[in-house]
Amino acid sequence: MSSNLLNRFGRTISFRLNLWYAAIFTVSACALFVFLYLLLAVAIGWKDQEVIDAKFKEFSTVYEAGGLPALKSMIDRSTHGIQRADDKPLFVRWVSPYKSVVLLAAPQDWVAFDPNVVNVGGSPAHRVYLRVPKDAEKDLVLKSDQLYDGSWLQVGRSTNSREAVLKPFRRIFFAVMTPIVLFGFVGGAFLAHRAMKPVREVVSTARSIIDTGKLDARVPVRRSDDELDEMAQLFNRMLDKNQALIKGMRESLDNVAHDLRTPLTRLRGTAEAALHAAPGTDGAREALADCVEESDRVLTILQTLMDVAEAEAGAMKLARARVDVCALLNEVIELYQYVAEEKRITVTADFSEPCEGSIDPTRMRQVFANLLDNAIKYTGEGGQVTIQARHEDSNLVVRFRDTGMGIPAAEQEKIWDRLYRGDKSRSQRGLGLGLSLVRAVVHAHQGRVQVVSQPDQGAEFTVSIPGELSEHSKGTPLLNPGLEETSYSGLAK
Ligand code: ADP
Repeated sequence: MSSNLLNRFGRTISFRLNLWYAAIFTVSACALFVFLYLLLAVAIGWKDQEVIDAKFKEFSTVYEAGGLPALKSMIDRSTHGIQRADDKPLFVRWVSPYKSVVLLAAPQDWVAFDPNVVNVGGSPAHRVYLRVPKDAEKDLVLKSDQLYDGSWLQVGRSTNSREAVLKPFRRIFFAVMTPIVLFGFVGGAFLAHRAMKPVREVVSTARSIIDTGKLDARVPVRRSDDELDEMAQLFNRMLDKNQALIKGMRESLDNVAHDLRTPLTRLRGTAEAALHAAPGTDGAREALADCVEESDRVLTILQTLMDVAEAEAGAMKLARARVDVCALLNEVIELYQYVAEEKRITVTADFSEPCEGSIDPTRMRQVFANLLDNAIKYTGEGGQVTIQARHEDSNLVVRFRDTGMGIPAAEQEKIWDRLYRGDKSRSQRGLGLGLSLVRAVVHAHQGRVQVVSQPDQGAEFTVSIPGELSEHSKGTPLLNPGLEETSYSGLAK
């Protein structure tokens, strides 16, 4: 393995997780062992103190009852009467109040003990338990205290050395720790590897998309409902959205290219004809007029695309004012009256007054015109179109209902996309930009637009604009939309 690879491995989260896991595991095991070790050491001390306390009490009681002779005979009895293996001969020393040792019984294993290390004295420090390590196997435990008459009694006993018990414990500790640390590392590596699996899958999916350019790669989802699973699902959803967006952009680009080709080809043909016609003649003038018309068409497509992009990016500037929406609608109906009559379509206005709204009249005129244009366009001869306007729950609601071909459920989501045209609508004129502009402008007004439709049973588009007038707009005079600019060059038709 090269040092570079080792370096990279050292920086991986798996490796660091593994180290942390092993370290925490080892430290916890050590702490548990130390705790048990201390507990054992303290317990040994307590047990020895308890035994020596009992013996001290026995001897002091006998001394209090019978004095020195009674104490002496008791020492003799206890030295000869040892029966159990753990009964050990006792060290007993009685020191007169004048500090002279009067009685001393030292068993075999106390021979080397220098009683001076437990010199009696007045200081409370001498009324203590004393543990003197005798050798590797044994400790001498001694209690020294002053009696009622000022004399000193010391009772001691040899006991198993703390070392003798704790040493094997320590040996076990080292023997057990080695496999525990190993286990910590192996377990840590396994857990870290498992925990990081979804992250590795996200990385490999992203890498495969970058390397191959195929956008359909997805992270396998385990349905375990944990955070990493949620991350994988969100990552997949993000990829879905990106894929749809890129597909939409590609399609939009194709459609724009396709839709611009026709007017531009026509423009070129007409310009060529104008070149060939004698200058100043009717033919030349007509050809130039056609050129202007085709150029307008191209400009309209581009302008609408830019409007939609601007509105979707939240950058569309609205010139909002209090407007008589019914008047605005009547104006749009009038504009389409001729087309409707040609198809013998009845356009009915059903407005409930007052019909005011705080809207940008120019933009909303585009919206209403697009919706009415579609209603007439996609309704067969002799059909009906109804436009309803009213205030509902402080919203201004305008409905366009027709009895036309309707929209299949599968298409209802897509009709709002830029340049999307329904399958059955291709025979009609249009660019597929009208509804995307409608939605963008309505959203810019903080409103909503939705469609309810069934194939062959007509469609109903509902535009809902929040009707609460702002303090600012309340003060502004009511505009007559008829006085506004009436050019429809912005319509995406
Ligand atoms: P265009 O009308 O230029 O095709 P639009 O964006 O206005 O583009 O509409 C998108 C699609 O929605 C249309 O192609 C058509 O399939 C469908 N559509 C819109 N309005 C109606 C309607 N009133 N009735 C039936 N279909 C409609």
